[in-house]
Amino acid sequence: ISFQSLGLNESLVNAVTELGFEAPTPIQAEAIPVLLNNHTDLVGLAQTGTGKTAAFGLPLLHLIDPALRHTQALVLAPTRELCLQITQDLIRYSKNLKGVRIVPVYGGASIRDQIRDIKTGATIVVATPGRLMDLMEKRAVDLSAISYVVLDEADEMLNMGFKEDIDQILAGTSPEKKTWLFSATMPKEVKAISKNYMNKPYELSV
Ligand code: AMP
Repeated sequence: ISFQSLGLNESLVNAVTELGFEAPTPIQAEAIPVLLNNHTDLVGLAQTGTGKTAAFGLPLLHLIDPALRHTQALVLAPTRELCLQITQDLIRYSKNLKGVRIVPVYGGASIRDQIRDIKTGATIVVATPGRLMDLMEKRAVDLSAISYVVLDEADEMLNMGFKEDIDQILAGTSPEKKTWLFSATMPKEVKAISKNYMNKPYELSV
């Protein structure tokens, strides 16, 4: 299997080839065609190290429209470190796409700088839930026109006490959006998010 055969555009295939990715990992081979073609919600049971960032990041970059100026996708992650890692990966994958801007927002750093970064235009916002809530309360971020929400390491976010933030964040997004959830474990709290907020998700496990 090649990245090209999964349906990704040439810019993305070239970018991952230049990064030395020779073939999709199992989660990429399964998730990418589903996310590109089926326009579905997805629940993926997957650990880190499986290539899950590219499994959601490449379809996200393929599906967004770089010509549109509003924020089209939100990625939620439990920690600053993961937030920055995902941002760096998405920037690498999108290096041949013009006009895509990926903005990380997380606690422990200047909120004013982050507000400025978002105002300059953020195609994709990668956020920790607490800081995103602060930005929403300050009306610095507009999630109303978002098409995709990714919840990465959902079990970790719930362990860290972000359930209410996640509930409020999801409530502020369009009912039309697609939600892609990844988690290393599937406790009942994660299943509840899937049940409450997702529409017949495609389920995969690697
Ligand atoms: P992740 O599970 O997303 O944290 O990815 C784990 C590591 O695998 C990262 O360093 C990725 O850059 C790398 N990686 C992801 N997909 C591939 C692939 N198809 N081929 C080679 N390396 C990959």
